[in-house]
Amino acid sequence: MSDLEEHPAEQLCEPTAGPGPVAELFPAREVPLGGVRGVFVERVLPQRDLPTVGAWCFFDHFGSPTVTKTDAPPDIDPHPHIGLQTVTWPFTGQIRHRDSVGSDVEIHPGQLNLMTSGRGIAHSEYYSADAPAGHGLQLWIALPGNATRVDPHFEQHRDLPVFRADGIEAIVLIGSLAGHASPARAYTPIVGADVRLERGAAVTLPLEPGFEHAIMVIEGEVTVADTELAAGPLLYLGTERNELRLTSSGGAHFLLIGGEPFGEELVMWWNFVGRSHEEIVAARNDWENHDVARFPDIAGHTPEQRIPAPPLPALHLKPRKRRVGSDRS
Ligand code: MN
Repeated sequence: MSDLEEHPAEQLCEPTAGPGPVAELFPAREVPLGGVRGVFVERVLPQRDLPTVGAWCFFDHFGSPTVTKTDAPPDIDPHPHIGLQTVTWPFTGQIRHRDSVGSDVEIHPGQLNLMTSGRGIAHSEYYSADAPAGHGLQLWIALPGNATRVDPHFEQHRDLPVFRADGIEAIVLIGSLAGHASPARAYTPIVGADVRLERGAAVTLPLEPGFEHAIMVIEGEVTVADTELAAGPLLYLGTERNELRLTSSGGAHFLLIGGEPFGEELVMWWNFVGRSHEEIVAARNDWENHDVARFPDIAGHTPEQRIPAPPLPALHLKPRKRRVGSDRS
């Protein structure tokens, strides 16, 4: 996925300590991805008051049943990334992923695509013509400062660990949950899990108390932390929770994300995650100047297919304060 907003704002994310256990709802925004088909996705991260959850810094739900506008997932032409990992998690459809480190793979539901940009990578994502009705998630994980220059690489995981207990089944995408560890490579203490609750479920999910966590429902409803949560918004749960009590009368499917509160300042703009305005400008220039040392060409694509970078914002950027828990009113 590419952030195809025509005039993306630059976001500065400040480091933070955890707020303790809280339960705060952050609404999904319907974000236009541009292009002729007028595609919208539901975005729950970043939020003005919550730029990150752990190192998770971007969270899009495409093809959502609750989106009110045109929601067919777009084919995304070649575009660049720096400073992040992309996590692609489809529920329906098939995606052909091609990138500048030579990957050319089909991804199916239940399989994790994890692309680590390091200092720079380019990729494209196309829906196969015979399965165009895509529905799924795309998330980004910010790389910590000591990993922003790693060699770009791509992983596909077809066999992920599953935590099962009475009433619950959780696929561990990255990190570990209830003693089940994903093979996906992570650079910060983190967790991401696709959780399904059976009808009538009443379960307790163990959590890492040093992490902050959040939940987004994909289908059904779950009651958690005295909150009835349906599809759409992100429920931020704060830190210092040893476990989560979950109940669902009709069953539920949701994504759990979490991690150590991210202790570094970030500047996010378009498809780039950096540490400074200058770093973002340099990456944009390298893409616009077709610097193949940083962003090699992708086999099977022509240079004309490359998505041009949007114009940089004219205004000088101000830090975006994170405001959760008692800081929020
Ligand atoms: Mn992308």
